[in-house]
Amino acid sequence: MPKILVVGSLNADLVVRAPRFPRPGETISGEDLQVIPGGKGANQAVAAARLGAHVSMLGRVGRDNFGGFLLDNLKSNNVDSQLVQRDDASTGTAIIVVDADGQNSIVLSPGANGKVFPLDVEHASFSTFDLLLLQLEIPIPTVLRAAQLARQNGVRVLLNPAPAKELPDEMIALADFLIPNETELSLLTGMEVRDVPSAEAAAKKLLERGAQNVIVTLGSKGALIVNKQTSKLVDTFNVDVVDTTAAGDAFIGGFAVALDSASLLADAVRYGCACGALATTKFGAQPSLPTKDEVEKIIRAQDPEGMK
Ligand code: ADP
Repeated sequence: MPKILVVGSLNADLVVRAPRFPRPGETISGEDLQVIPGGKGANQAVAAARLGAHVSMLGRVGRDNFGGFLLDNLKSNNVDSQLVQRDDASTGTAIIVVDADGQNSIVLSPGANGKVFPLDVEHASFSTFDLLLLQLEIPIPTVLRAAQLARQNGVRVLLNPAPAKELPDEMIALADFLIPNETELSLLTGMEVRDVPSAEAAAKKLLERGAQNVIVTLGSKGALIVNKQTSKLVDTFNVDVVDTTAAGDAFIGGFAVALDSASLLADAVRYGCACGALATTKFGAQPSLPTKDEVEKIIRAQDPEGMK
């Protein structure tokens, strides 16, 4: 099983369901508060660990109660949290109101995630890992420095450019695998992405800027691999969708784990699709991330060839 280092965010998601969003100055009553572990970094770390990988997380949480809660959550999911520091800032939080139609309205407070500076990654022992997983919920200079150190140590780099942001060419070229969804790809390239051909055209633009392998996740349409050798659409699995939250994080965790043993890139992408599809069948972020058994079951049922 691969050893994966995740350098990224940890958030407490504070979720309240309400009949509708309050207007400015208005107070309305909602249901009981749910406090759910989140943050793209931690979600992807947990996604990979549930599938059996050895995962270490590097980041920051506050010295407050939410910080302790997030560290406990990593431990109970078998993610090594030794490289997560406690900071004087508040733990990152997402304040989420969900209305009766299931629409989200979110205020994100980065807190300690905004304090993960390049110095934090300087002394991590990159050479002991097989793969570095990065997203964009911590400062970009830190993401860049972690990618440089991984590259110097011969460690492969997977960058999920989420939430959507523009990036310097150096960052794009440092990633062995760049995995955006349609919105992120559109923002990265300034090109409209609405279907497979437009996703392919935008991904090719990233190849011109130095990207090596671009994998565009396309929701129910699966995922598109674009590199110098090929453009290949990989189908996803048929599922009854309940809530698509964390489908992307589940895909990334699954792809990262499968990459280690897959002989073809498309096989690792297909495994990621199984994880993403399964994540849509349950409500919430981390609670919906699938286990290895669940993934093997859906592959056996819908893609027996994929079990070889
Ligand atoms: P994000 O959550 O970042 O927007 P996507 O919606 O593209 O990412 O989903 C990530 C992956 O999860 C997709 O590439 C696909 O494999 C899987 N997936 C997402 N939605 C569905 C769906 N409705 N049916 C089957 N698979 C899905």
